[in-house]
Amino acid sequence: MADYKDYMLFDKLPHTWCAGCGDGIVLQSIAAVFAEMELDKHDICLVSGIGCFGRVDDYLDINCMHVTHGRALPAATGIALANPALHVIVTMGDGDSVTIGGNHLIHCARRNIDLTAIIANNYNYGQTGGQYSGTTPTDSITSTSPYGHIEQEFDICRLAEAAGATYVARATAFNPVQMRKLIRGGIEHKGFSLIECMVQCPTHYGRYNRQGEAADMMKMMNARSIPAEKAKTMSAEELEGRIVTGVIVNKNREDYYTKYKRIIDAQRIREEGGSVNEN
Ligand code: SF4
Repeated sequence: MADYKDYMLFDKLPHTWCAGCGDGIVLQSIAAVFAEMELDKHDICLVSGIGCFGRVDDYLDINCMHVTHGRALPAATGIALANPALHVIVTMGDGDSVTIGGNHLIHCARRNIDLTAIIANNYNYGQTGGQYSGTTPTDSITSTSPYGHIEQEFDICRLAEAAGATYVARATAFNPVQMRKLIRGGIEHKGFSLIECMVQCPTHYGRYNRQGEAADMMKMMNARSIPAEKAKTMSAEELEGRIVTGVIVNKNREDYYTKYKRIIDAQRIREEGGSVNEN
Protein backbone atom coordinates (compact mmCIF):
# COMPACT_ATOMS: atom_id res chain seq x y z
CA MET A 1 0.00 0.00 0.00
CA ALA A 2 1.56 3.27 -1.12
CA ASP A 3 1.74 6.30 1.15
CA TYR A 4 1.70 9.99 0.21
CA LYS A 5 5.22 10.25 1.63
CA ASP A 6 6.47 7.96 -1.16
CA TYR A 7 5.79 10.79 -3.63
CA MET A 8 7.33 13.59 -1.56
CA LEU A 9 10.85 15.01 -1.38
CA PHE A 10 11.28 15.57 2.33
CA ASP A 11 14.87 16.75 1.98
CA LYS A 12 13.45 19.89 0.29
CA LEU A 13 11.54 20.85 3.43
CA PRO A 14 10.90 23.20 5.13
CA HIS A 15 8.77 24.63 2.35
CA THR A 16 8.79 28.31 1.38
CA TRP A 17 5.10 28.97 2.10
CA CYS A 18 4.03 31.27 4.95
CA ALA A 19 2.67 29.80 8.17
CA GLY A 20 -1.03 29.05 7.69
CA CYS A 21 -0.95 29.12 3.87
CA GLY A 22 -3.45 26.76 2.23
CA ASP A 23 -1.07 25.61 -0.52
CA GLY A 24 0.39 22.80 1.59
CA ILE A 25 -3.05 21.22 1.94
CA VAL A 26 -3.32 20.96 -1.84
CA LEU A 27 0.21 19.56 -2.11
CA GLN A 28 -0.55 16.84 0.44
CA SER A 29 -3.85 16.07 -1.31
CA ILE A 30 -2.12 15.60 -4.66
CA ALA A 31 0.51 13.26 -3.18
CA ALA A 32 -2.20 11.35 -1.29
CA VAL A 33 -4.17 10.79 -4.51
CA PHE A 34 -1.07 9.48 -6.28
CA ALA A 35 -0.65 7.02 -3.39
CA GLU A 36 -4.34 6.05 -3.30
CA MET A 37 -4.25 5.28 -7.04
CA GLU A 38 -0.85 3.59 -6.61
CA LEU A 39 0.45 5.47 -9.65
CA ASP A 40 3.88 4.60 -10.98
CA LYS A 41 6.00 7.75 -10.65
CA HIS A 42 7.22 7.30 -14.21
CA ASP A 43 3.63 7.54 -15.46
CA ILE A 44 3.09 11.01 -14.00
CA CYS A 45 4.29 14.33 -15.34
CA LEU A 46 3.50 17.49 -13.39
CA VAL A 47 3.87 20.90 -15.00
CA SER A 48 3.95 23.88 -12.70
CA GLY A 49 3.66 27.59 -13.34
CA ILE A 50 4.97 30.56 -11.36
CA GLY A 51 3.67 31.88 -8.07
CA CYS A 52 3.38 30.63 -4.50
CA PHE A 53 1.58 27.44 -5.54
CA GLY A 54 3.96 27.04 -8.50
CA ARG A 55 6.55 25.86 -5.95
CA VAL A 56 4.56 22.65 -5.46
CA ASP A 57 6.84 20.74 -7.81
CA ASP A 58 9.84 21.38 -5.56
CA TYR A 59 8.45 18.92 -3.01
CA LEU A 60 7.30 16.05 -5.25
CA ASP A 61 9.45 13.10 -6.25
CA ILE A 62 7.97 12.68 -9.74
CA ASN A 63 8.67 13.99 -13.26
CA CYS A 64 8.18 17.76 -13.03
CA MET A 65 8.62 20.73 -15.27
CA HIS A 66 8.61 24.30 -13.96
CA VAL A 67 7.74 26.74 -16.73
CA THR A 68 7.26 30.46 -17.29
CA HIS A 69 4.36 32.43 -15.84
CA GLY A 70 1.00 31.58 -17.38
CA ARG A 71 2.44 29.00 -19.80
CA ALA A 72 2.01 25.76 -17.87
CA LEU A 73 -0.96 24.62 -19.97
CA PRO A 74 0.71 24.95 -23.41
CA ALA A 75 3.76 23.05 -22.10
CA ALA A 76 1.49 20.38 -20.64
CA THR A 77 -0.48 20.14 -23.90
CA GLY A 78 2.73 19.26 -25.73
CA ILE A 79 3.54 16.56 -23.17
CA ALA A 80 0.02 15.10 -23.24
CA LEU A 81 0.05 14.87 -27.05
CA ALA A 82 3.60 13.47 -27.23
CA ASN A 83 2.90 10.75 -24.66
CA PRO A 84 -0.83 10.16 -24.10
CA ALA A 85 -0.08 7.33 -21.65
CA LEU A 86 1.14 9.83 -19.04
CA HIS A 87 -1.03 11.31 -16.31
CA VAL A 88 -0.37 14.99 -16.98
CA ILE A 89 -1.08 17.24 -14.00
CA VAL A 90 -0.85 21.03 -14.19
CA THR A 91 -0.55 23.04 -10.98
CA MET A 92 -1.24 26.78 -11.13
CA GLY A 93 -2.46 29.64 -9.01
CA ASP A 94 -5.23 32.03 -10.01
CA GLY A 95 -2.70 34.51 -11.39
CA ASP A 96 -1.07 31.84 -13.53
CA SER A 97 -4.21 30.09 -14.76
CA VAL A 98 -6.91 32.70 -15.39
CA THR A 99 -5.04 36.01 -15.40
CA ILE A 100 -1.70 35.83 -17.22
CA GLY A 101 -2.50 32.41 -18.69
CA GLY A 102 -6.26 32.80 -19.11
CA ASN A 103 -6.25 32.41 -22.87
CA HIS A 104 -4.49 29.04 -22.63
CA LEU A 105 -7.04 27.79 -20.13
CA ILE A 106 -10.06 28.41 -22.35
CA HIS A 107 -8.41 26.82 -25.38
CA CYS A 108 -7.25 23.78 -23.42
CA ALA A 109 -10.82 23.31 -22.20
CA ARG A 110 -12.27 23.88 -25.68
CA ARG A 111 -9.88 21.33 -27.21
CA ASN A 112 -10.53 18.86 -24.40
CA ILE A 113 -6.85 18.07 -23.90
CA ASP A 114 -6.51 15.01 -21.67
CA LEU A 115 -4.86 16.55 -18.61
CA THR A 116 -5.76 17.63 -15.07
CA ALA A 117 -5.48 21.29 -14.09
CA ILE A 118 -5.32 21.86 -10.33
CA ILE A 119 -5.74 25.54 -9.49
CA ALA A 120 -5.07 26.97 -6.03
CA ASN A 121 -7.21 30.11 -5.86
CA ASN A 122 -6.15 32.54 -3.11
CA TYR A 123 -7.72 35.62 -4.76
CA ASN A 124 -4.42 37.42 -5.32
CA TYR A 125 -0.80 37.33 -6.52
CA GLY A 126 0.69 36.20 -3.22
CA GLN A 127 4.31 35.71 -4.20
CA THR A 128 4.82 39.25 -5.53
CA GLY A 129 3.11 41.12 -2.70
CA GLY A 130 -0.65 40.63 -2.86
CA GLN A 131 -1.65 42.39 -6.07
CA TYR A 132 -5.14 41.76 -7.47
CA SER A 133 -5.66 38.93 -9.97
CA GLY A 134 -8.50 37.80 -12.23
CA THR A 135 -10.28 36.16 -9.28
CA THR A 136 -10.00 38.99 -6.75
CA PRO A 137 -13.56 39.71 -5.62
CA THR A 138 -15.00 43.13 -6.48
CA ASP A 139 -14.50 45.75 -3.75
CA SER A 140 -11.87 43.75 -1.87
CA ILE A 141 -8.57 45.29 -0.84
CA THR A 142 -5.22 44.29 -2.29
CA SER A 143 -1.86 46.05 -2.56
CA THR A 144 -2.92 47.40 -5.98
CA SER A 145 -6.53 48.19 -5.04
CA PRO A 146 -6.17 49.95 -1.68
CA TYR A 147 -9.60 51.64 -2.01
CA GLY A 148 -11.44 48.50 -3.23
CA HIS A 149 -11.11 46.44 -6.39
CA ILE A 150 -13.08 47.88 -9.32
CA GLU A 151 -13.26 44.82 -11.59
CA GLN A 152 -15.63 41.88 -11.47
CA GLU A 153 -13.90 38.58 -10.69
CA PHE A 154 -13.86 35.40 -12.75
CA ASP A 155 -15.65 32.33 -11.45
CA ILE A 156 -13.01 29.79 -12.55
CA CYS A 157 -15.39 26.81 -12.66
CA ARG A 158 -18.03 28.63 -14.68
CA LEU A 159 -15.36 29.92 -17.04
CA ALA A 160 -14.01 26.39 -17.60
CA GLU A 161 -17.51 24.99 -18.08
CA ALA A 162 -18.41 27.66 -20.65
CA ALA A 163 -15.16 26.98 -22.52
CA GLY A 164 -15.98 23.26 -22.82
CA ALA A 165 -14.19 21.53 -19.93
CA THR A 166 -15.58 18.02 -19.43
CA TYR A 167 -14.81 17.68 -15.70
CA VAL A 168 -15.01 20.68 -13.38
CA ALA A 169 -14.97 20.55 -9.58
CA ARG A 170 -14.23 22.73 -6.57
CA ALA A 171 -13.11 22.09 -2.99
CA THR A 172 -11.83 24.27 -0.16
CA ALA A 173 -8.77 23.84 2.03
CA PHE A 174 -11.20 23.28 4.91
CA ASN A 175 -12.17 19.92 3.42
CA PRO A 176 -9.08 17.99 2.22
CA VAL A 177 -11.07 14.72 2.11
CA GLN A 178 -13.34 16.17 -0.57
CA MET A 179 -10.33 17.77 -2.28
CA ARG A 180 -8.65 14.37 -2.65
CA LYS A 181 -11.85 12.79 -3.99
CA LEU A 182 -12.23 15.50 -6.62
CA ILE A 183 -8.57 15.43 -7.67
CA ARG A 184 -8.81 11.68 -8.11
CA GLY A 185 -11.97 12.13 -10.18
CA GLY A 186 -10.10 14.57 -12.39
CA ILE A 187 -7.12 12.26 -12.92
CA GLU A 188 -9.42 9.34 -13.75
CA HIS A 189 -11.43 11.46 -16.19
CA LYS A 190 -10.61 11.18 -19.91
CA GLY A 191 -10.37 14.73 -21.27
CA PHE A 192 -9.76 18.16 -19.77
CA SER A 193 -10.40 18.21 -16.04
CA LEU A 194 -10.12 21.17 -13.70
CA ILE A 195 -10.23 21.20 -9.92
CA GLU A 196 -10.35 24.61 -8.26
CA CYS A 197 -8.95 24.47 -4.72
CA MET A 198 -9.90 27.49 -2.62
CA VAL A 199 -6.94 28.31 -0.37
CA GLN A 200 -6.30 30.96 2.24
CA CYS A 201 -3.54 33.56 1.92
CA PRO A 202 -3.39 35.00 5.44
CA THR A 203 -0.25 37.03 4.67
CA HIS A 204 -1.78 39.28 2.02
CA TYR A 205 -5.44 38.78 1.07
CA GLY A 206 -6.52 37.85 4.58
CA ARG A 207 -4.60 40.69 6.20
CA TYR A 208 -5.73 43.36 3.72
CA ASN A 209 -9.35 42.28 4.09
CA ARG A 210 -9.27 41.79 7.86
CA GLN A 211 -10.24 38.13 7.65
CA GLY A 212 -8.23 37.11 10.71
CA GLU A 213 -5.87 34.17 11.09
CA ALA A 214 -5.59 31.22 8.68
CA ALA A 215 -8.03 29.18 10.77
CA ASP A 216 -10.60 32.02 10.64
CA MET A 217 -10.26 32.18 6.85
CA MET A 218 -10.76 28.42 6.56
CA LYS A 219 -13.85 28.52 8.77
CA MET A 220 -15.22 31.36 6.64
CA MET A 221 -14.67 29.31 3.46
CA ASN A 222 -16.54 26.42 5.02
CA ALA A 223 -19.41 28.61 6.15
CA ARG A 224 -19.78 29.97 2.61
CA SER A 225 -19.63 26.50 0.97
CA ILE A 226 -22.68 24.97 -0.63
CA PRO A 227 -22.80 21.52 -2.32
CA ALA A 228 -23.14 21.62 -6.11
CA GLU A 229 -26.36 19.56 -6.00
CA LYS A 230 -28.01 22.01 -3.62
CA ALA A 231 -26.74 24.99 -5.60
CA LYS A 232 -28.75 23.78 -8.62
CA THR A 233 -31.96 24.52 -6.70
CA MET A 234 -30.90 28.03 -5.66
CA SER A 235 -31.32 31.37 -7.41
CA ALA A 236 -28.43 33.60 -8.50
CA GLU A 237 -29.25 35.96 -5.60
CA GLU A 238 -29.16 33.10 -3.09
CA LEU A 239 -25.80 31.97 -4.48
CA GLU A 240 -24.25 35.42 -4.16
CA GLY A 241 -21.07 35.10 -2.06
CA ARG A 242 -21.34 31.30 -1.75
CA ILE A 243 -18.64 28.80 -2.77
CA VAL A 244 -20.17 25.97 -4.78
CA THR A 245 -18.27 22.76 -3.97
CA GLY A 246 -18.21 19.23 -5.38
CA VAL A 247 -18.44 18.02 -8.97
CA ILE A 248 -19.94 20.76 -11.13
CA VAL A 249 -19.45 19.20 -14.59
CA ASN A 250 -18.75 15.58 -15.53
CA LYS A 251 -19.48 14.59 -19.11
CA ASN A 252 -17.96 12.63 -21.96
CA ARG A 253 -16.58 14.18 -25.12
CA GLU A 254 -13.85 12.70 -27.30
CA ASP A 255 -10.52 14.21 -26.22
CA TYR A 256 -8.18 15.96 -28.62
CA TYR A 257 -5.55 13.22 -28.92
CA THR A 258 -8.08 10.41 -29.49
CA LYS A 259 -9.85 12.36 -32.23
CA TYR A 260 -6.59 13.46 -33.85
CA LYS A 261 -5.29 9.87 -33.94
CA ARG A 262 -8.55 8.57 -35.33
CA ILE A 263 -8.42 11.07 -38.23
CA ILE A 264 -4.74 10.40 -38.99
CA ASP A 265 -5.18 6.60 -38.84
CA ALA A 266 -8.16 6.77 -41.22
CA GLN A 267 -6.23 8.93 -43.70
CA ARG A 268 -3.28 6.52 -43.61
CA ILE A 269 -5.59 3.60 -44.44
CA ARG A 270 -7.09 5.57 -47.35
CA GLU A 271 -3.64 6.44 -48.73
CA GLU A 272 -2.71 2.75 -48.61
CA GLY A 273 -5.79 1.95 -50.69
CA GLY A 274 -7.92 0.63 -47.87
CA SER A 275 -11.47 1.62 -47.05
CA VAL A 276 -12.62 3.34 -43.90
CA ASN A 277 -16.01 2.98 -42.24
CA GLU A 278 -17.13 6.63 -42.13
CA ASN A 279 -19.98 5.98 -39.68
S1 SF4 B 1 1.93 34.93 0.27
FE1 SF4 B 1 -0.07 33.99 0.65
S2 SF4 B 1 -0.27 32.38 -0.92
FE2 SF4 B 1 1.90 32.98 -0.82
S3 SF4 B 1 2.85 31.52 0.60
FE3 SF4 B 1 2.25 33.33 1.80
S4 SF4 B 1 0.18 32.84 2.56
FE4 SF4 B 1 0.62 31.42 0.90
